[in-house]
Amino acid sequence: MTLSKPAVQPPPYRELSPSRLWRHGGPLQKTFLFGGWLMLLVLCAWLGVGMVKWGWSGIPFEFGGVAVYLTVYPPLLICLLLTLTLGWWWGAIPAYCATLCLALYAGMPLQWAMLFGLSNPLGFAVMVIGYRATNMRRDLRGVTDLLFYVQQSFVACVFSSSGALIWSYTNDFDRTALLPVWQGWWLGAFVQSVLLVGPLMAMLWPWVQRWQSAHPRLMRDGHIRSRKTLLGLLASVTLGVLVYGYATTGLADSQVNLDALRQTMWVFYWVFAVIVLFIAFFGYQLFLHWQKSQDALLVEMEKLATTDALTGLLNRREADRRMAAEWQRTRRSGHSTAMVLLDIDHFKQVNDQYGHPAGDAALRRLAGVIFSEMRTVDFAARYGGEEFLIVLPDTSLRGAHAFAERLREEVAASLVKHEERSFQMQVSLGVATVHEDDASYERWISRADRALYRAKQGGRNRTELDQPTVEKLA
Ligand code: GH3
Ligand code: MG
Ligand code: MG
Repeated sequence: MTLSKPAVQPPPYRELSPSRLWRHGGPLQKTFLFGGWLMLLVLCAWLGVGMVKWGWSGIPFEFGGVAVYLTVYPPLLICLLLTLTLGWWWGAIPAYCATLCLALYAGMPLQWAMLFGLSNPLGFAVMVIGYRATNMRRDLRGVTDLLFYVQQSFVACVFSSSGALIWSYTNDFDRTALLPVWQGWWLGAFVQSVLLVGPLMAMLWPWVQRWQSAHPRLMRDGHIRSRKTLLGLLASVTLGVLVYGYATTGLADSQVNLDALRQTMWVFYWVFAVIVLFIAFFGYQLFLHWQKSQDALLVEMEKLATTDALTGLLNRREADRRMAAEWQRTRRSGHSTAMVLLDIDHFKQVNDQYGHPAGDAALRRLAGVIFSEMRTVDFAARYGGEEFLIVLPDTSLRGAHAFAERLREEVAASLVKHEERSFQMQVSLGVATVHEDDASYERWISRADRALYRAKQGGRNRTELDQPTVEKLA
């Protein structure tokens, strides 16, 4: 067989494009999506202010006698879900607004508040780039998908928690008060991402993916295929981990209270151990992804190099390579291998009468008939403009003659349809088998070519056998 099946690939990373939604979306879709999103934006801003008002930041918790700090920040949950299901802008804007509002409410100067607002969008960006580059599944059904999600969440949360440093700075916290804030932010965000957003994603994703497939016009392909971006991603993950380590150890060192230091350091050691695992895992995932795309590229290149673009059959170069191999094999095994060479009758007239595109349609139709008639061990090629050959291993001259006649009748009976018109075509065929005394496989082809020439001379729409072989058999 020469036509290869297309490789099964997951759908590439897609996100909802606001401009396409605006241009192509129905009124109901627009109202629901833009309206719903605006309502969520307002809700996020309100919840952001609520965090300050009700003091959800750096709440101390005790787990088995050790202290950890958690910050409860509901806008993160909403915005991360928006980011992962719809796209970065959809989550980043409400996240920015929420942080900006809470900062202004808390009395942070405007310039600082504007910078501070970037922390969550920055974290989301790392996460989204990770998904855009690796195209990992987001229904979190497999261990790999789950680990990837947890690890991306961690790095995103560390990036997001950079805001804690601005927060503490503008609030004039002393260094001892910084650790609870910093740890509360990243750990709080991480716990919320993994325990709340993760399960919600797992539930929502199959539904989101179906919706995406049903509305391709509203989607934008965001799959990143460049190696540079992949390396950049790996570098930013590493940087995130370094920032994490530096900030945590630096802040813990400055703690005057040794007890508090001892009590919080365990989190750091555990997380650090997990990070090392994460980085190894992430690097491995990137490598696998890269390798898969290389393999797919190789298969594609091989296909391009060996097939004829118009008909999907083998091209002349590949046909020559296989014929040479088949000729060698036949001479060693002593079996009979046949070749059928075929040329369309009066094809110039087809082009003249119906046009060149119709001629192309005829070539494709002919390839389809050949493909359906031949066995899986046979191979077929477009050997010239409208000249085709089929090699039939382990087939006698008589067997190949029967095949050629069947093919000729099938072609004559089939209709070529192009645009509004349809027409029929006929072919002439020459058949030859491999001879022991042939100096090369080209001799085999030229005997088939001579038989084809006689078929043309004899009136076309017929099959002729290689004369020397017939005489030998007689
Ligand atoms: P005959 O019965 O003697 O074979 O007559 P013919 O008109 O078919 O003559 P010939 O085999 O020499 O014609 C080849 C024609 O095939 C000339 C060329 O215009 C046409 N052809 C070659 N390649 C293509 C192609 O890719 N597409 C189309 N539409 N036509 C092609
Ligand atoms: Mg012809
Ligand atoms: Mg020809």
